[in-house]
Amino acid sequence: MSFLQDILNVILPPRCAVCGEVLSIDKGICDKCIEDIDFLSDSICYRCGQPHSSFIDKKGHKICGNCLAHPRRLFRFSRSACSYDSIAQKLILNLKFHDRTDLASVLAKMMYVAGKDIFASGVDVIIPVPLHYTRILKRKYNQSALLAKELGRLTGIKVCYDVLTKSRMTRPQVECSGFERLNNVKGAFLLKNSEKIKGKRVLLIDDVLTTGSTIKECALAIKKAHPKSIDNLTIARVV
Ligand SMILES: [Zn+2]
Ligand SMILES: [Zn+2]
Repeated sequence: MSFLQDILNVILPPRCAVCGEVLSIDKGICDKCIEDIDFLSDSICYRCGQPHSSFIDKKGHKICGNCLAHPRRLFRFSRSACSYDSIAQKLILNLKFHDRTDLASVLAKMMYVAGKDIFASGVDVIIPVPLHYTRILKRKYNQSALLAKELGRLTGIKVCYDVLTKSRMTRPQVECSGFERLNNVKGAFLLKNSEKIKGKRVLLIDDVLTTGSTIKECALAIKKAHPKSIDNLTIARVV
């Protein structure tokens, strides 16, 4: 660590993004808060990642009633690292709005663990859910692109930032009701450079899965390029 970094750590010590505790090692979250994260691991549906899934499919995987009833789905796999509770909310808000871009590293590691079935089944291209350019100008970065970049580093998988674009501004999904969310993002994503994903196994990356409207719209745009499969991986989901 550089001398300048040593001085900075004394003046502005690294703090846990959840509880604000000073960290001896700059890893974004303290051990206590990591323990309190509600990781989704047991009894998740092998297909959609929904917890509390109690059915078993032909291959012996846990599966939810919805996936059992509708085996042909837009996504091959869907996974989230944890449930969207107050801890996950603090982490994501800090990453998105408070310049805690350092959190992308630890959050991507959590996503990598949660996405083990996805990576084991093979991924050719990672694509982050894009932001409208006016939002990037304001925020200076796209949090999903930061997560995608870290996942690319962890896995060695190529990340493509120029396949999906957001063609129009939408209201923040959290401000919309369930029904409004669907219309809010309808047709908001455009496919470009489709040759980059034709016949490929594509993994979409976003921060939160709420109703799934955003990620579904992205997948519908991507589908036009005829990829082999589409998965999605998020930090947290509303359960
Ligand atoms: Zn903490
Ligand atoms: Zn399911």
